[in-house]
Amino acid sequence: MGTRDMDYDLIVIGGGSGGLACAQRAAEYGARTLLVESARLGGTCVNVGCVPKKIMWNTAQVAAALHDAPDYGFDVSLARHDWSLIKRKRDAYVARLNDIYAANLEKRGVKLLRARGKLVAAQTVQVEGRNYTATHIVIATGGQPTIPDIPGAALGISSDGFFELNSPPAGVAIIGGGYIAVELAGIFSALGSHTTMVLRHDRLLRSFEPMLGENLMTTLRDEGVEIAINAVPASIQRQGLAAGQGSGPLEITTAGGRKLGPFDAVIWAVGRRANSAQLGCDALRILRDADGHIRTDKYQETNVTGIYAIGDVTGRAQLTPVAIAAGRRLSDRLFGGMKERLLDYENIPTVVFSHPPIGTVGLTETEARERYGADLKVYSTGFVPMYHSMTTRKPRTAMKLITTGSDERVVGIHVIGAGADEMMQGFAVAVRMGARKRDFDDTVAIHPSSAEELVTMR
Ligand SMILES: Cc1cc2nc3c(=O)[nH]c(=O)nc-3n(C[C@H](O)[C@H](O)[C@H](O)COP(=O)(O)OP(=O)(O)OC[C@H]3O[C@@H](n4cnc5c(N)ncnc54)[C@H](O)[C@@H]3O)c2cc1C
Repeated sequence: MGTRDMDYDLIVIGGGSGGLACAQRAAEYGARTLLVESARLGGTCVNVGCVPKKIMWNTAQVAAALHDAPDYGFDVSLARHDWSLIKRKRDAYVARLNDIYAANLEKRGVKLLRARGKLVAAQTVQVEGRNYTATHIVIATGGQPTIPDIPGAALGISSDGFFELNSPPAGVAIIGGGYIAVELAGIFSALGSHTTMVLRHDRLLRSFEPMLGENLMTTLRDEGVEIAINAVPASIQRQGLAAGQGSGPLEITTAGGRKLGPFDAVIWAVGRRANSAQLGCDALRILRDADGHIRTDKYQETNVTGIYAIGDVTGRAQLTPVAIAAGRRLSDRLFGGMKERLLDYENIPTVVFSHPPIGTVGLTETEARERYGADLKVYSTGFVPMYHSMTTRKPRTAMKLITTGSDERVVGIHVIGAGADEMMQGFAVAVRMGARKRDFDDTVAIHPSSAEELVTMR
């Protein structure tokens, strides 16, 4: 079939961060584009991820400031926090964003079908029993939280369920030690829930530079979060009842027979799996890895010509700006005449919205050692930031700068501490441009700030 015999130039399955970006960019180039989305526009990030999470992080930041206020001389008497109020405002904000996305698609002439899409042939997507053809098909179906198959697992909720809570649980367990787990722990703890983290191993944020998880664990513990280590949940039950029965507080039994609880809520934050199971991948022999992530080449193309995958469904750097960048660049290449346009997955900066936040870009020390051997020089510092010189709580800031070669090219920056979230974007530009340690040294510091420590390290 020639291009003009096709119903569309592009069909995108999934209207989350990546799918929306890809479809809109294609339409801007004049491509006839169909977007298929079965749930709310905006996907994980807008509805049950970055956006509502950041609003809750902001809420927790306000709580922390109120907590510190007497240390700065303010007489504040706090009656309570109204969780349901911020939830209503948050939901309304997200609903506005959903509408804006729909309007943007219409403005750019992208046809939207609100249903599930499935690949039925190399150039054909089936939606509600009808087949649509296109020269190019992009899979942007994202992922969803994993809930392990243990007795009583359904008594727990996932991060999706977190966003449905109308009030905070008095006592909450968060199972997992990755970035979503630590973010939720920080929010709950700041907003007054007695918070317990349940870790399979003994470290937080295992895929990050280790000093970040170590510092965060100290701060979380100092602020009253309990952390149960080497605790693998074997079942969840109502206290005093068999798994799955009755009502009342929840209890976790670990593989070693330890009992943890009581909890009013248990949250699973043990990872996410790709939404690739019911897409027709196997019939089309589209290659996936053992976790269901769709394999692509550097141009986001699967092993089947004309079928591409972007974003979380590929399992690589599962972040919104990554999905967006991959989607836009793919459309630039397919419809914008930029033949070599692709996303470089090196040096992607990221922030963990923990309390305090973490900002990171580039390689961990272990990764740098694997790549460059002993040819490394590492700079570290740790201090209590000036803000906390006045407060009773003393969360520390810690920083690590990893360089390689005789000219000390900076290949990794890792920061935990107040302000790290807003600090890292600019430093990521420097790392991407190949900055040397002397470029950092030659940059005049901004004083007084925490960020200045990154240009004064010795
Ligand atoms: C709690 C949480 C916090 C997060 N915080 C951050 C953060 O602070 N910063 C950050 O960068 N990232 C964050 N992320 C990650 C971010 O949300 C994802 O990386 C991003 O949403 C991935 O975009 P995507 O387009 O690949 O998939 P998604 O946004 O998940 O979109 C996929 C879409 O496909 C749809 N779909 C699935 N199957 C079908 C089908 N068969 N037919 C039609 N439609 C289908 C789904 O309904 C969904 O809307 C967070 C994630 C979570 C869970």
